[in-house]
Amino acid sequence: MLAKLKGTRLYSILNNKCPRCHEGDFYITKHPYQIHNFGKNHEHCSACGYKFDKEPGYFYGAMYVSYALTVAFSVAIAVAIVVLFPSSGYKVYMISILLGLVVLMPLSFRLSRLIWMNLFQHYDKDALETKK
Ligand SMILES: [Zn+2]
Repeated sequence: MLAKLKGTRLYSILNNKCPRCHEGDFYITKHPYQIHNFGKNHEHCSACGYKFDKEPGYFYGAMYVSYALTVAFSVAIAVAIVVLFPSSGYKVYMISILLGLVVLMPLSFRLSRLIWMNLFQHYDKDALETKK
């Protein structure tokens, strides 16, 4: 199913792939919950040579994406509590959202960087032939 998405930004984001060629991996490990390596990424794409970190501080902008994801996860957790446990007090919401965000932090970190890169680089089907 995900192969049908190749060429779209969603494919790169969901598969941890280079935003330009969709072949090389961005993160060293595919699993977001390998705590020691979850945030480590390759400097260049192994397939097309694309430099992931375009300039010093490039990924600071991913914090804006991370903020949006955090809000989305918080709202999703709150809605789940409203649906599953409608008579819960505010402490249940606060603790559930806090624990949920801690558990989802590695996933949020990784997705935010991939989304940030894909905002500025689109898929180039000729990237592997015109390797820089
Ligand atoms: Zn690439």
